[in-house]
Amino acid sequence: MTGLEHRLLAGAYARLPTDFYAPQVPTPLPQPYLIAFNPDLGEQLGLPAAPGPRDIDTLCGNHVPARVRPLAAVYAGHQFGVYVPQLGDGRALLLGDIIDADGNRHELQLKGAGRTPFSRGADGRAVLRSTIREYLASEALHGLGIPSTRALAIVGSDQPVYRERIETAAVLARLAPSHVRFGSFEYFHYQGRDAQVRALADFVIDGHFPAFTGHQDRHARLLDAVVERTAHLVAAWQAQGFVHGVMNTDNMSILGLTLDYGPYGFLDHFEAVRVFNHTDRHGRYAYANQGRIALWNLHALAQALSSLIDAPRREAALERFEPLFVGAYGALMRRKLGLRQPQAEDAELVDSLLHALQDGRADYPAFLRRLGAFRPHDADTRRPLLALSRTPQAIDAWLDAYSARLSRETDSAEARQADMDAANPLYVLRTHLAERAIRLATDQQQYDEIERLRQLLARPFSPQPGAEAYAEPPPADAGDIVLSCSS
Ligand code: AMP
Ligand code: MG
Repeated sequence: MTGLEHRLLAGAYARLPTDFYAPQVPTPLPQPYLIAFNPDLGEQLGLPAAPGPRDIDTLCGNHVPARVRPLAAVYAGHQFGVYVPQLGDGRALLLGDIIDADGNRHELQLKGAGRTPFSRGADGRAVLRSTIREYLASEALHGLGIPSTRALAIVGSDQPVYRERIETAAVLARLAPSHVRFGSFEYFHYQGRDAQVRALADFVIDGHFPAFTGHQDRHARLLDAVVERTAHLVAAWQAQGFVHGVMNTDNMSILGLTLDYGPYGFLDHFEAVRVFNHTDRHGRYAYANQGRIALWNLHALAQALSSLIDAPRREAALERFEPLFVGAYGALMRRKLGLRQPQAEDAELVDSLLHALQDGRADYPAFLRRLGAFRPHDADTRRPLLALSRTPQAIDAWLDAYSARLSRETDSAEARQADMDAANPLYVLRTHLAERAIRLATDQQQYDEIERLRQLLARPFSPQPGAEAYAEPPPADAGDIVLSCSS
């Protein structure tokens, strides 16, 4: 099997004119060592099960194969609703492309590979803590079947990096078919560079939506596709209790992938207004706002494409968002509740459940997973659900309504439970679990817990022997953790 060094190709993105990026070589990482390697993704890419020294050097940017031309892409974006005319890869480099076993092309990015022309005075590095968070979350979302950039490896170093305190540097190797963002289009649009907007849209269409290539209305179809993918993406986040935390337009993928993990979190107890990002004082990126914000961001994208698509057609594309989002979320929640025959009142049943969970601070993933074992006529199956709530009578009342609703289903309880178990993860990347893996890595140089979690999260629906504790809600004294944006 050939190592990464021999598999990397010059990136397709590098064939665009240099309006779109700055050529940039990585800054060497002193005395690198491997912290994590994702063997599942490695296998899909046809890489050896463990990277050799040369590949470790490639994964952190210390070795750049002769064929590739690393670059930092330029983009802009609306951050917390405010337009910032120039952002760009300030600490990520697109090293090159790699073709996987199925013939699909992926961009390989190194995040934390040093300064670029877009670093804006910052150091171009990532700290080990944040690379572990991104590594685990990418694989957790992928394990849940939610589109995401993927994480291949983390390479660490003892090099100090200054954040709120001194930490150490690491490079995350991540992959995606494309890292183009809504903000990539905004950058050119707001400078009036319509030819570049068109060139970038055609580049994305040719590479990722080839069915639209050559069509007169291809740009409108691209917008339709992004609306649809984004609606499905955010509906899936909502259903699985994921909060991205910083849905700025520069963090929104044109392919509808979860992109740029920072102060994200998964809900433990259900709380609609839960905010994980401690700089988000007004809750713009709170859990329950994510659908609205996705639409706001799509409006920003549509505006950036206004030289290519006329206003009525843009409006028509955007109008599809809400029905798509509501429909996708409803379908996912029905699956989670084991309701196979859709009924008009199902949305109401979901809504009343969320209220009951919120009132009693009940754990969202544990409740839904346990609900699969609920049998309307067996009081013993009610207890583990009531035990999760501080207001069990509200849950009790909801279970009565749910029982009535189940009586209109025709499948056996066992078939329903199997369905529900495939929709409600047993293992979730809860903040306290991620924090423990991070502490072991940063304080004790023990990296096994990262791989342990990755394995559980890669198959989150299947019980794994010895992992019972990972399926439990956080200990009562864990408290609500808010996360720093600095990474
Ligand atoms: P984020 O909020 O992580 O998506 O980053 C927003 C912008 O800040 C992007 O343009 C990043 O490239 C840039 N950035 C974040 N951290 C750093 C860093 N340590 N060094 C240079 N640029 C950074
Ligand atoms: Mg970003």
